[in-house]
Formats: sequence, C-alpha cells, structure tokens
Amino acid sequence: MVNIILLGPPGAGKGTQAKRLVDERHMVQLSTGDMLREAKTSGTDMGNRVAEVMAKGQLVTDEIVIGLIEEKITGNAGGGFIFDGFPRTLAQADALGALMARTGQTLDAVIEMQVDDVALVARITGRFTCGSCGAVYHDVTKPTAKPGTCDVCGGTQMVRRADDNEDALRQRLMEYYKKTSPLIGYYYAKQQLSSVDGLAAMDAVAAAIAQVLDKR
Ligand code: AMP
Repeated sequence: MVNIILLGPPGAGKGTQAKRLVDERHMVQLSTGDMLREAKTSGTDMGNRVAEVMAKGQLVTDEIVIGLIEEKITGNAGGGFIFDGFPRTLAQADALGALMARTGQTLDAVIEMQVDDVALVARITGRFTCGSCGAVYHDVTKPTAKPGTCDVCGGTQMVRRADDNEDALRQRLMEYYKKTSPLIGYYYAKQQLSSVDGLAAMDAVAAAIAQVLDKR
C-alpha cells in the first residue's frame, strides 16, 4: 500500500491519472476539488461561500479543506490514498503530515506533474466530463466517438466546470504559483519528491508514475 500526492497546476492531468490508479491499483482518490464541488451543491451557507470562492479561481480556506481530508483519512484506504489537489498550501502540507503521523500512516511519494502554461490553457478550456460516470474528455484531443454520448457508460449529460474558463484559470494559475508551487521545494527537501513529464502521452505519464510507485 502506498500513499501519494499528485502535485501540479490545474490541468496537469492529476485527476485523469488518479482515476487510472483507482482502476488499476484499487487506490482511493481523495480530491478536495471533487469534495468541494459536492459541498457546493448542498445549498448550505458553507456550500454557497465555497461556490463563490471556487468560481473566482481562488483557494478555499485551509481550515475547510483540512477538515474534509481529516474526515476521509481514517476511512478505507484500499491500495493507498491518492491526494489529488491537496495539499495546496504549506499549512495544508504541515497539517497532512500531522494527520498521517497521528493515524499511523506514511506519505510514500509526492509526484510532481510538470507542464507548461500554454498547454494548460488549451487543455482546460476544452475540458468536459460525463455527468454520469465522470469520464474526462476534450473538444480537440479526446472527443467522444459519438457527439454528446459518453464512450464509457453511454450517458448523454456532459458537464463543463464553472471555473474552466480563461479568467478563472488565470487566477487558479496565479494561486498555484504563489501558494502551491512552494510545496515542490518543501517535499524536495524532505526527499519525497519525484517529477514526471505531464506533457507526455497519457500512457507514458501513467508508466512514469507506475515506476515511482513500484520503487516504494
Ligand atoms: P480542482 O478540482 O483541484 O482543480 O479544485 C477546484 C477548486 O476547488 C480550486 O480552484 C479551489 O477553489 C478549490 N480547492 C480544491 N482543493 C483545494 C485545496 N486543497 N485548498 C484550497 N482550495 C481548494
């Protein structure tokens, strides 16, 4: 069992690779973005506040996301946890370290997915997912075989994220460089960092990640 963090800017492919690891290694994906999108639909005060912050491409408070992770981390870990989109700040990284220690677990690898900004804009602005099964598509690089119908489950409700537009993306990138990219140095210093080329083909990225995991 290995517990890993997938680290990288929005659109680096963290979610896509996490889903493969869930299928292939029975790992458990903990995506704070997914958890927050779920909270958003709850209609509670907290949900509404979160929705506003997310739509602008800003980060939700550390307290909220740490609370979300804390709830999950004692649950079933399957083949290990994949932290996807968490931690995003140094405070979150410290909190995760403390939570893992408290629950007798270890963080085995931090995998940085390296990409460049031009690729990110193209990737993100064409992105959509199947509303039924969550399969990820792209207008240009990975369209559905039959327009409007999911290749995997046949679902016909395709969804685009509210924050996958250029303005919000610019803000999300700024948040990444200001608050999240320092984690690269943080985990490098802890000798936990491995970097993979996130611009390689999807299978090649998966193979590079597998290599890191199999070394553990
Ligand atoms: P993601 O799906 O990971 O791209 O996250 C979508 C949005 O959710 C982000 O732009 C933030 O507004 C919020 N979010 C997700 N994870 C975190 C986190 N660990 N810390 C703060 N905000 C987060």
